Amino acid sequence: MSKYDVAVIGSGPGGYVAAIRCAQLGMKTAIIEKYSTLGGTCLNVGCIPSKALLDSSHHYEDAVKHFEEHGIDIPGEVKVNLKQMIARKQTVVDTTTGGIDFLMKKNKIDVYEGVGSFIDATHIKVTGKDATEIEAANTIIATGSKPSSLPFINIDKERIITSTEALKLKEIPKHLIVIGGGVIGLELGQVYKRLGAEVSIVEYMDRIIPTMDKALSKELNKVFKKAKFKMNMSHKVKSVERVGDEVVVKADNKKGEEVEFRGDYCLVSVGRRPYTDGLNVEAAGVKLTDRGQVETNAHLQTNVSNIYAIGDVVKGAMLAHKASEEGVLVAETIAGQKPHIDYNLIPGVVYTWPEVAAVGKTEEELKDTGIAYKVGSFPMRALGRSRASMDIDGFVKILADEKTDEILGVHMIGARAADMIAEAVVAMEYRASAEDIARMSHAHPTFTEAIKEAALAVGDGALHV
Ligand code: FAD
Ligand code: NAD
Repeated sequence: MSKYDVAVIGSGPGGYVAAIRCAQLGMKTAIIEKYSTLGGTCLNVGCIPSKALLDSSHHYEDAVKHFEEHGIDIPGEVKVNLKQMIARKQTVVDTTTGGIDFLMKKNKIDVYEGVGSFIDATHIKVTGKDATEIEAANTIIATGSKPSSLPFINIDKERIITSTEALKLKEIPKHLIVIGGGVIGLELGQVYKRLGAEVSIVEYMDRIIPTMDKALSKELNKVFKKAKFKMNMSHKVKSVERVGDEVVVKADNKKGEEVEFRGDYCLVSVGRRPYTDGLNVEAAGVKLTDRGQVETNAHLQTNVSNIYAIGDVVKGAMLAHKASEEGVLVAETIAGQKPHIDYNLIPGVVYTWPEVAAVGKTEEELKDTGIAYKVGSFPMRALGRSRASMDIDGFVKILADEKTDEILGVHMIGARAADMIAEAVVAMEYRASAEDIARMSHAHPTFTEAIKEAALAVGDGALHV
């Protein structure tokens, strides 16, 4: 039987990063993945393919709506070739997952293809292509998550679909009904809206992206409405039925009236659930929470001292970079180091256009905790850079401590916000004040000038409004 210092179960951005860090620290490492490709949800059916389709559909929309204004005439009609678009997305996925194979080899990590299940706290059975049993002094559970649904919905994967199917549709929906105005619903809703579908967002809460700062929800809602999405807030979905090639969704609106939506596809994007099916945690004595997450302490250690868990299968935001940070933390903990993660500084991004990005506390959280704060914000439309590319929607908002001026939260919506948020993360990691950012030179013309101007607005006032 092969023996390892560490076995990692699951090869998503949590698991594969943990394995690399373990190997870098000199530990003999194995990774077990039930699918034939490495990379987990993120690389195969999550972050990467969704961004590939967002990019393709953005190009199409630009060609149809904006090229003429830029002085670019296209003879003939611009058409979507969905088959090619999906094929390109798959090439991107294949190249990316292939890169993980390379990294495993480079770091001398043994890869087992098959389902990993505990025999006991130090032995794991692999069932599938590389069927075997291995012994591991330490195990990292990184089994991720799966789409969740509502009890009355039958996901048939043809017309009533999750994000996984939405990434490989064979036709552009005529009317896509999206249940859940969270990250997946908005990103994939925007893909198909750009390609010509009518898109109805049906959200239970009174605003989209309800966990983010309210001002971001409001601005994104405005942009989506302008783009002719049908936005239905405060709607409680109560039935989803397939009738032939049609899907009928019934919901109660704010007034308690029944509203019916009829479309040809329905995307169910109401969150994801931690995934431990087939893992046989009971055999190792590992406890799960009531919500099905693997229970861990601050070191991501389970109640069984040599078994750790990371990523979507444990508490916290279901984000790839959060999973990876946790993978590094656990590897270093096993190696005897004392690593730390500041969860407050894990940024959240929605890759719609305009992009939405945030780090730190929202204004609502500061109000709830009674922390006195100052606000500075700056509209993207006031930037020369925004006008040059006609990306004028959005703003940057900075929240700083009333007394010390320390930055407590940064919330932005606008072109390239996904990349710009890194500046806020660095600033907050070094506990910068708003004045620190206001005094730093930001290249002109760039979108990042909105961050400097918002920081100035926290103090004496922005220069360009
Ligand atoms: P996963 O990536 O889910 O990987 C878990 C792996 O474990 C899987 O490969 C699974 O097959 C394997 N596994 C499970 N059980 C076993 C077992 N018993 N034996 C062997 N293998 C097993 N996050 C972002 O930060 N940015 C984004 O842009 C983003 N976009 C997303 C878009 C979509 C459509 C979706 C669905 C998710 C997106 N996410 C995004 C979320 C991100 O994908 C997850 O947070 C991330 O993948 C979690 O990583 P993980 O390693 O914890 O788990
Ligand atoms: P989510 O939690 O982001 O959004 C789910 C939405 O569904 C919420 O707005 C919620 O209020 C709504 N909802 C819940 N029950 C409902 C009901 N009965 N009727 C109507 N609406 C209902 O979840 P998601 O969009 O499914 O994404 C799952 C996870 O994947 C998220 O945790 C997210 O972090 C991750 N993800 C991240 C990215 C990214 O980082 N860009 C992209 C996609 C997915």
